[in-house]
Amino acid sequence: MQKTLSIIKPDAVKKNVIGKILDRFESNGLKIVAMKKIQLNQNQAEEFYQIHKDKPFFEDLVKFMISGPVVVSVLEGEDAVFKNRELMGATNPKEAKAGTIRADFAENIDANAVHGSDSLENAEIEINFFFKTDEIYK
Ligand code: ADP
Ligand code: MG
Repeated sequence: MQKTLSIIKPDAVKKNVIGKILDRFESNGLKIVAMKKIQLNQNQAEEFYQIHKDKPFFEDLVKFMISGPVVVSVLEGEDAVFKNRELMGATNPKEAKAGTIRADFAENIDANAVHGSDSLENAEIEINFFFKTDEIYK
């Protein structure tokens, strides 16, 4: 069993498809063991995306992530990190496989509907970024 962090980004929240995206997780063997709707501030978004701070898209990414509320959740299941990444589809929705969240709900590489941890190690860091241990329920 693994845990991973998911964020439903501002574009998908604005489109009113939170439930549709959460259903993808639940219908594919992932359990939502923690969840909240929040609005990130500049500092939080910059810290969360530290790994991309030198990329040309960093500033736009931070601006986008604080442009509206997001839904942050912890997903648990067998091979959860990889499974979530598979359900999400490629970073660029134009390259995402049919039936993936990004193919179905995202417009472009900037507004691409969801975030998902890319490794078990980062999943733990990202989960701890948003949730205390006593906010996670099996
Ligand atoms: P992923 O979200 O699939 O793990 P990355 O970690 O590489 O992708 O990038 C983080 C986020 O930064 C992406 O989801 C996307 O919103 C944005 N991003 C990545 N690459 C680009 C790019 N070339 N141009 C604009 N935005 C990008
Ligand atoms: Mg990433």
